[in-house]
Amino acid sequence: MGKLKDKVIIITGAAMGLGYATALEAARNGALLSLIDYNADLLAKAEKTILEQYPDAKILTTVADVSDETAVKKYVDETVKKYGRIDGFYNNAGIEGRQAPMADYDVDIFKKVIDINLLGVYYGMRYIIPVMQKQNYGRIVNVASVGGIRGVLNQTPYVASKHAVSGMTKNAALEYGRDGILTNAIAPGAILTPMVAEAFKQVNPADPKKAEAEYAQANPTKRLGLPEEVGKLVVFLLSEDCSYVNGQTIAIDGGQSNSY
Ligand code: NAD
Repeated sequence: MGKLKDKVIIITGAAMGLGYATALEAARNGALLSLIDYNADLLAKAEKTILEQYPDAKILTTVADVSDETAVKKYVDETVKKYGRIDGFYNNAGIEGRQAPMADYDVDIFKKVIDINLLGVYYGMRYIIPVMQKQNYGRIVNVASVGGIRGVLNQTPYVASKHAVSGMTKNAALEYGRDGILTNAIAPGAILTPMVAEAFKQVNPADPKKAEAEYAQANPTKRLGLPEEVGKLVVFLLSEDCSYVNGQTIAIDGGQSNSY
């Protein structure tokens, strides 16, 4: 029996990285999937590769930008139309922005990071919570970051948006716990996804692999995390096994955030 057998799970940013890895793990656990991404080609490819591994998986895909409130309402409505309910929401889509010191940061990029990472996460909860309230059941997993717990050099809007995600998670927990809705966030450290590969290119354009090796060396486990390791944690938090954890931001970083 899968941990998410017949649970309707929405995943944003599902076309690659942590969203895709979690979609695979949710499919393995029997979920009925509603996958969202703004990259139509990659989303279609993700659907195809999930079905290759799990031919019985049920998948609805919707191309949507999570920073567009109308598009968010639409993906929520379409999910309810197809499956009749929403049991779990992995509120994952996010971007890093360009790295630069705070005073030099490009304001347009700053606003874009906030639009996607903060407002996009908020819109998702705004439209999904009422559906979960009617069911008196729901599990929400927001994606913060170690940058939602600590500062990260040259990433001011990212850090600001991820602290906000952690804050919204606490508020949702306080406001909707009585409705059977448990809301938590995860705070990944460096997990090897396309986003992190891009970050290492910015840290050391001449030798991104060196930046990656240095980062791994600073970690207590001497390695970076894997997307499937995040998928396993998220599936637990989206499942009924998660029954009394609410409002927490859970680091998945090999222990690195305990260091200073
Ligand atoms: P990624 O860039 O590898 O994948 C992100 C996915 O989200 C892509 O498929 C992209 O098309 C999609 N996406 C981006 N903006 C979108 C939007 N506005 N609307 C719809 N889809 C959108 O990134 P990732 O590493 O998988 O990161 C996923 C989440 O995890 C992000 O919120 C990120 O901040 C967070 N995170 C990642 C790490 C890490 O180490 N990888 C660490 C901390 C936090």
